[in-house]
Amino acid sequence: MSLRIVVCVKYVPDATGDRHFADDLTVDRDDVDGLLSELDEYAVEQALQIAEDADDAEITVLTVGPEDAKDALRKALSMGADKAVHVEDDDLHGTDVIGTSLVLGKAIEHVGYDLVVCGMASTDGTMGVLPAILAERLGVPQVTLLSEVSVEDGKVTGRRDGDTATEQLEAALPALVSVTDQSGEARYPSFKGIMAAKKKPVESLDLSDLGIEEDEVGLEGAWTKVDEATERPPRTAGTIVKDEGEGGKQLAAFLAERKFV
Ligand SMILES: Cc1cc2nc3c(=O)[nH]c(=O)nc-3n(C[C@H](O)[C@H](O)[C@H](O)COP(=O)(O)OP(=O)(O)OC[C@H]3O[C@@H](n4cnc5c(N)ncnc54)[C@H](O)[C@@H]3O)c2cc1C
Repeated sequence: MSLRIVVCVKYVPDATGDRHFADDLTVDRDDVDGLLSELDEYAVEQALQIAEDADDAEITVLTVGPEDAKDALRKALSMGADKAVHVEDDDLHGTDVIGTSLVLGKAIEHVGYDLVVCGMASTDGTMGVLPAILAERLGVPQVTLLSEVSVEDGKVTGRRDGDTATEQLEAALPALVSVTDQSGEARYPSFKGIMAAKKKPVESLDLSDLGIEEDEVGLEGAWTKVDEATERPPRTAGTIVKDEGEGGKQLAAFLAERKFV
C-alpha cells in the first residue's frame, strides 16, 4: 500500500520586505510579497527523500493561507510533491496557532495520511509549537526537530541533535515529524519540475468543507490576543569613523559611550 505523506508548508511574508501591522494588529499581508517558508523547504526535501526510498509513496503538500499561498504550493509541487491542498477562507483572518492546528488537523484527516512532515518553525511566526499541537490533535506520536529521518517497516526513525546529547528516536506510523535546517539542503526545482507542477492537482477547501465553525478560528476563536504593537523605528544612518591617525581612539570612544567596552 502506498505510503501517504502530508507536508505542512506555510506561505510567509518575505522577511526582506517592509512589513507592517494592520489596524486590528494582525500582520498586513496585502502589502508585502510572500513565499514558501524557507524552513519548510527542508520538510519537502525530507518527504521527497522518504518517498524515493519507499516502494510506493504519495506526497501531498498542505497549506492554510490566503489566495497567494498557492505560490508556496506550486513551489513544493515543482520540487516534486504529487498534489496539493489549499485551505482558504475569509474567516481565517486572525487565526492563531490553536486555530491553525485545528484546520490543518481536519485537512490532514480529509486527505488521509501515514506520515505528517512539518518544518521546525515558520520564518514569520517562529513559534515552533504547531507540530506538537497538531500531533496532539491527530492523536499520533510526534518526533520533532529531527536532523535525519527515514521510514522503514511501518516506523519512522530519526536523529535529534541536542546541545548535550544526540538522540535516536522512533515511532510507529501514523506519526508526525518535524525536521530542522540541518536535515539536508533542499533541492532546487528543475525546469521539468516547474512545467510538471502546472498540471498537478491543487484541491481548494474552505471551513465548511472541513466542518469547522467560524467562531472556532479567526480573531474570535484565538486563544491569544495582541494588545499593542509598536513598529521598530526606521534605521538611522550609521556613524562613519575616518582614520586620519585618531581612528582607533574614536572607535574606542564610540564603543565606550554605548557601554560596549
Ligand atoms: C490569513 C491568516 C491570518 C492569520 N492571522 C494570524 C494572527 O492574526 N495571529 C496569529 O497568531 N496567527 C495568525 N495566523 C496564523 C499564523 O500565521 C500561523 O500559521 C500560526 O499561528 C502558526 O504559528 P507559527 O507560524 O509560529 O508556527 P510554527 O509552530 O513556527 O510552525 C512550525 C511548522 O508548522 C507548519 N505550519 C505553520 N503554519 C502553517 C500554515 N498556516 N499552513 C501550513 N503549515 C503550517 C509548518 O510546517 C511550519 O514549519 C494567520 C494565518 C492565516 C492563514
